[in-house]
Amino acid sequence: MDYSNMRPESLMMSYGYKPSLSEGAIKCPIFQTSTFVFNNAMEGKRFFEVAYGLREKDPSEELGLIYSRLNNPDLEILENRLCLWDEAEDAAVFESGMSAISTSMLEFMEPGDLLLYSKPVYGGTDHFINHFLKKLNIESVGFLASDSKEDIINRINATGKGDKLAMIHIETPANPTNAVIDIEMCAEIKEHFHTDEKQIVLSVDNTYMGPLWQHPLKHGADLVLYSATKYIGGHSDVIAGACLGSKELMARVKGLRTFMGNMAGPWTGWLLMRSLETLKVRMDQQATNARHIAKFLDAHPMVERIYYLGEMAANGSDELKAIINNQFESHGAMIAFDIKGGEREAFAFLDNLKLMRLAVSLGGTESLAEHPQTMTHADVSPEDKIAMNITEKLVRLSIGVENYEDLIADVSQALDSASDVMSIDEKLMVQR
Ligand SMILES: *Cc1c(COP(=O)(O)O)cnc(C)c1O
Repeated sequence: MDYSNMRPESLMMSYGYKPSLSEGAIKCPIFQTSTFVFNNAMEGKRFFEVAYGLREKDPSEELGLIYSRLNNPDLEILENRLCLWDEAEDAAVFESGMSAISTSMLEFMEPGDLLLYSKPVYGGTDHFINHFLKKLNIESVGFLASDSKEDIINRINATGKGDKLAMIHIETPANPTNAVIDIEMCAEIKEHFHTDEKQIVLSVDNTYMGPLWQHPLKHGADLVLYSATKYIGGHSDVIAGACLGSKELMARVKGLRTFMGNMAGPWTGWLLMRSLETLKVRMDQQATNARHIAKFLDAHPMVERIYYLGEMAANGSDELKAIINNQFESHGAMIAFDIKGGEREAFAFLDNLKLMRLAVSLGGTESLAEHPQTMTHADVSPEDKIAMNITEKLVRLSIGVENYEDLIADVSQALDSASDVMSIDEKLMVQR
């Protein structure tokens, strides 16, 4: 079949899977096996030649199955399907988002190197950079969404290690306030420090936009990273991660994955394939719901400020609007807002939600709410919290696939409860 001009959502049920190889099963079975039988010794020899890069695979040659730490049909078919969304040449699936991030960082940096990263990044990534990589003598420089290209270049030069810049790692929009970072600006910074001896790798953690709403490779990124636990898995029932990029870079990532042994297992691969079939319908509905809820919050007297890409696209600076229009295909399904009052009101809101659940994580079918300052971002330094608007008033919502009128009714009654705990004096302020 000619797949070339079909949209990814049309291919998620069939691409890369031959029913005739699995007794005609319409769905790819779970290949719960550690090893694969060779038809003869010569076949085993030829499979290993390809696996260890001793020769290129012939275009017509099926990839030989050897051992499930190297390859497994559930992972390979999943990886081929994931490539379609980001138009990547190759993908590697991991047992968690953190293993995708840490393995790619370890592959592309060595002791003495410098890492540039955007702040805030996911807490686990931040810990890996500032604790584990430091132990390996890999230094890092952080920057905020509000920093200009010149600021960032000056900061790198000030370390005296511009020639050692090996990797740029960013998260955009950033968790929890949807702060936008321009991927193309980061690609220009990469060019600025690029030398013939040193290849700099630009990686983008695209978890917040899933594979649907932002395609970093098109804007100059070299690697796209996902916590597949979030939108890709989408049902809050599996932990997994992915890394995508060119064949050349992915050969290195997959090489290290083989030796770290942190590939996803067949059951995880199967669950993610099942999830990918509904990725687009889920994410479309989540974005539609988020648009309605953001509109409701924006007009509510208990809401002081809302952090949502749709609001920024309407009211942001011209520069911000241009980046949003260029980089995002949707305004996403993550909303944060400042509630009037402080922690007491924020907690009253969270404790009184009935349909939405109080939990961290995001991207699943069910809507979730949490308090970044004391939960997901508890570890961020006080100065950075202020710079990033992570205050006691901030509440983060991940919008699911429920009926949006029911979600709004729930948010509305929880905001009423938050209003009830405010003092009379504060209430008078709100009404004014
Ligand atoms: C959850 C998350 C991670 C970590 O992924 P795990 O699957 O939990 O290991 C990394 N980056 C972002 C942006 C995340 O939200």
